[in-house]
Amino acid sequence: TIAVLSCSSKIIQPKGGFVSKNQLDFRVDSVLKLMTLKEKIGQLNQYNGFWEITGPTPKEGQAAKKYADLKNGLVGSMLNVKGVKDVRALQKIAVEETRLGIPLIFGFDVIHGYKTISPIPLAEAASWDLKEIKKSAAIAAEEAASVGLNWTFAPMVDVSRDARWGRVMEGAGEDPYLGSQIAIARVQGFQGDDLKARNTILACAKHFAAYAFAESGRDYNTVDIGESTLQNIVFPPFKAAADAGVRTFMNSFNELNGIPATGNAYLQRKILKSDWGFEGFVVSDWGSINEMIPHGFAKDSKQAAEIAINAGSDMDMESSAYVDHLETLVKEGKVKETLIDDAARRILRVKFELGLFDNPYLYCDENYEKETLGKAAFQEGVLEMAKKSIVLLKNEKELLPLKKSGQKIVVIGVLANDKTSPLGSWRIAADDNSAVSLLEGLQKYEGNQLTYAKGADVTVGRTQFIWETKINTTDKSGFAEAIAAAKNADVVIMSLGEHGLQSGEGRSRTDIGLPGVQQELLEEVYKVNPNIVLVLNNGRPLAIPWADAHIPAIVEAWHLGTQSGNAIAQVLYGDYNPSGKLPMTFPRNVGQLPIYYNYKNTGRPVMNEPESVFWSHYIDEKNTPLYPFGYGLSYTQFEYSDLSLSQKSFSGDGQIEVSVNVKNTGKYKGKEVVQLYIRDLIASVTRPVKELKGFEMIELQAGASQKVIFTINKKTIEFFTANSKWEAEPGDFKVFVGGNSVQTLERDFQYLK
Ligand code: BGC
Repeated sequence: TIAVLSCSSKIIQPKGGFVSKNQLDFRVDSVLKLMTLKEKIGQLNQYNGFWEITGPTPKEGQAAKKYADLKNGLVGSMLNVKGVKDVRALQKIAVEETRLGIPLIFGFDVIHGYKTISPIPLAEAASWDLKEIKKSAAIAAEEAASVGLNWTFAPMVDVSRDARWGRVMEGAGEDPYLGSQIAIARVQGFQGDDLKARNTILACAKHFAAYAFAESGRDYNTVDIGESTLQNIVFPPFKAAADAGVRTFMNSFNELNGIPATGNAYLQRKILKSDWGFEGFVVSDWGSINEMIPHGFAKDSKQAAEIAINAGSDMDMESSAYVDHLETLVKEGKVKETLIDDAARRILRVKFELGLFDNPYLYCDENYEKETLGKAAFQEGVLEMAKKSIVLLKNEKELLPLKKSGQKIVVIGVLANDKTSPLGSWRIAADDNSAVSLLEGLQKYEGNQLTYAKGADVTVGRTQFIWETKINTTDKSGFAEAIAAAKNADVVIMSLGEHGLQSGEGRSRTDIGLPGVQQELLEEVYKVNPNIVLVLNNGRPLAIPWADAHIPAIVEAWHLGTQSGNAIAQVLYGDYNPSGKLPMTFPRNVGQLPIYYNYKNTGRPVMNEPESVFWSHYIDEKNTPLYPFGYGLSYTQFEYSDLSLSQKSFSGDGQIEVSVNVKNTGKYKGKEVVQLYIRDLIASVTRPVKELKGFEMIELQAGASQKVIFTINKKTIEFFTANSKWEAEPGDFKVFVGGNSVQTLERDFQYLK
């Protein structure tokens, strides 16, 4: 029985209806039956796009091999192909020139936008605004789909505790609960309700698993963590993404407890495919199958292919290990053909779900591409997201919001005048100089006198893949001009931090202060004028204890994307009252890393000023962070009171209602993220001192109050126990409610069996 719907002439159309109940599986199986072993293996092969595809046919080297494989039906997917023209040209080869005409899937790192760039994901997480985050992903999906793409390698859902690791910018921060909610929002935003729709693309939960736990924050480094951390901290956002229907997972470069993630059957076969019932497919990370050779886990590419497929990696990104060796491995009996069938089935199923068999050129429309790229509605969307991502860290002396007229304002710092840096890392398709700079944003407010002085550079060079971003400038020649300008200003705005390319993949840092001579510049300017508003641009938490001690106003503005300057200016002038809260702890000192709010207490309680040296502490630094998780100010103030529980205990499927009164005691309308934490006091596996379990964003007029109600039930207190399963253990608990993870009201409750 051949019964496949395809526009390809190679595959026969069905006569009459389908007989199978499960139409999708039936269609997938009917394609699979037509395929040779080699063709099935071809579906498992993903190549990096050779961008000159619409140019002359490659005759030699890598490109020629890829081209030949493509024509022979030995490629299932391509990545990094940009634009409808190239996508169509490649799709045409797959559909019209290969024996079966099976369409390709086109993947791309649409991490925070395609051409219209939204804030880096860590910044978006600071909004705690799930609707806005979902919308931002939907914008990225629509724009990416318009250029022919149908798959993004996002969201990265790695829970990150170490700010030295440059890729913290790609995730949602340090908390598994917040991370899970955001993972769901992003998956829903990218994939929408209907994968066949013109404006949705596949999402990919990555990197499975524990990539962010690289020792000492050095990218790609060894990961060695226990099962409790894996289950309770690392897995939840992945599980949430799987439950939300994410169609693909990406494995990871790192080894986990001695086994590279790519060759890890426990992760991919047991946890993901068996325990969680994941039916989509797993793509390897870039070349990670062959990377098992230097890991010391496979002797050559052939053995790496054997290990990876047996461990459950379905698609090979750019190693060509599968296409080169799987056929032989099956013939030698080292790999069962049923495993190849399973992997191919998973990939074909997703292609059907995308509608590619019905119309492989669905995403290939040049007019639509032109109309869609960078359109006005996207600009508005990313601006909204950017404003909500900003976190006010400090505001003394009423410097903010800025007065709209009669002020002499001096802007200092090269980042203020940079139209590329705000795009951040991972914005491969966006044009350089396409962001609104801070200076441009401020210039729109015409009532004040605005002067700019560069002061100091950040790095000596800025290119996506080159190492120059490592080298911080030592040039102080701009100091004198900046200091002279600052002297006569009413307010000095200093835009300091990391260039957009100083975080991201391969950008680990051992010093997470202000790079280069910027700290010195800040201190010199402060000497002549302390009325400084420090606007931070960065892709990770920074350790800025001096600034916190001296500078009256500090605004965390991350790398906010295309509309960056407009968003920051609107916040500085009070046209948007900041509402962001930190999704990741800011340390006082890099030596405190990894630092996170949901730490364990130890047998010697973690105190700042302990009575003796034998308490868990440092002799040269406090234990507390500079700014804790969940922290962020507003131009108004909120007061929490009347925390009360509907009852003191619950059992079985019962619940407790937790209510709190929040009052806006300041003079502006504002938004507040009300946060609920719990602590399980005694458990079969030690529990963190606080764990986020709920949050709600409210908006209050000046003087207004609102009662916020949360529910605590069995789900709230479940964790991966000593029985190796997720369950609720009876016992004593605390509940905390507040506007950040430190300043909270608390009550006791009990869970009775
Ligand atoms: C990264 C992935 C990314 C892939 C494809 C790798 O280096 O680790 O996150 O999706 O490249 O560009």
